[in-house]
Amino acid sequence: MNRRYVSAITAALLVAAAVASAATPAKSTKPAAKPAAASTAKPATGKPKVIIVATGGTIAGAAASQTEAGYQSGAVGVDLLIQAVPQLKDLADVTGEQIASIGSQDMNDAVWLKLGKRVNELLARPDVAGVAITHGTDTMEETSYFLNLVVHSDKPVVLTGSMRPSTAMSADGPLNIYNAVAIAADPKARGRGVLVTVDDDIHSGHDIVKTHTTDVGTMSSGEAGLVGATLFGKNTWFRTPSAVHTKASEFSIDGVSTLPRVDIIYAHANMSPDIITAAVQNGAKGLVIAGVGDGNMTAPAVEALKGAIAQGVVVVRSSRTNGGIIRRNIELNDDQLGTVASMELNPAKARVLLQLALLKTKDPKTIQGYYDRY
Ligand code: ASP
Repeated sequence: MNRRYVSAITAALLVAAAVASAATPAKSTKPAAKPAAASTAKPATGKPKVIIVATGGTIAGAAASQTEAGYQSGAVGVDLLIQAVPQLKDLADVTGEQIASIGSQDMNDAVWLKLGKRVNELLARPDVAGVAITHGTDTMEETSYFLNLVVHSDKPVVLTGSMRPSTAMSADGPLNIYNAVAIAADPKARGRGVLVTVDDDIHSGHDIVKTHTTDVGTMSSGEAGLVGATLFGKNTWFRTPSAVHTKASEFSIDGVSTLPRVDIIYAHANMSPDIITAAVQNGAKGLVIAGVGDGNMTAPAVEALKGAIAQGVVVVRSSRTNGGIIRRNIELNDDQLGTVASMELNPAKARVLLQLALLKTKDPKTIQGYYDRY
């Protein structure tokens, strides 16, 4: 790591740690935490055990100064992230694991498979109450949905990230990590599927989308709404997501070493069919169309899709609008075309489900059933 970054990180984190320890009374006046629902997940410290699994992102990013907008993603390791928030020990018995150190723009199938398998292993341990995952915000909506489908446990899994690097003025990462651990340690988070907390909100991995390039409040759950809210680690719960997830999911990555290639194709005025043909020629087994409006595209593009489907490629229609439900047989006749409608899933999430669906079947009717339920 560049020297400039190292000194900026060290200075910022030391200041954060000093401020934190000065603010923490020598002896806690807080009443003892209530026992968690799963007593097996309570170690001798009396605190629930939470593992922070780090993947990189801006939350672990470092800039050369507190006001510089450009930064290096994933520069800070998980141990330093934990040290910068000493109050975590009031919430849980916390340890860290580094799975990757990447900006989430580089997230890929190999890291997803490694992460999903590791989270399943950790949650299978009776002493682990929950897992918090630090992750870049760019593809958090995909990773959280992937884990929602492949983690087979009721225990909390909570992703968090930040919009400002760890060295920035008013960095948002430390409180987001604090909140993520508080949620991962909360027995009331159990059974709600994979969650994401950023900026005091608690989202479902099924619904969360990134909506702004730089705002701290970039995450939205759109029409579905928040699962809960948190304020300095005190959680309030609104709902349990209704789509099938985690323990009830029929998708598994056990023994899986690669995922099928699925490409997203963005529809637009004057869309040419060439990009569809090129994706199939380059080995795509599935295509998700980020369609205009209710999942539509130009007539030449529809013709190209017919050719792709004839070659055994599964095609899902989603929408580039970022709202609403793409239902069957409205703008296009899915029954005749052999296409699948993505329902509530945006193109990025529809791509994740299609990758997992293709591990099981190429039958569009069965795959439509997955989009209806998941
Ligand atoms: N490019 C960064 C990432 O996704 C942005 C962030 O974390 O906010 O890793």
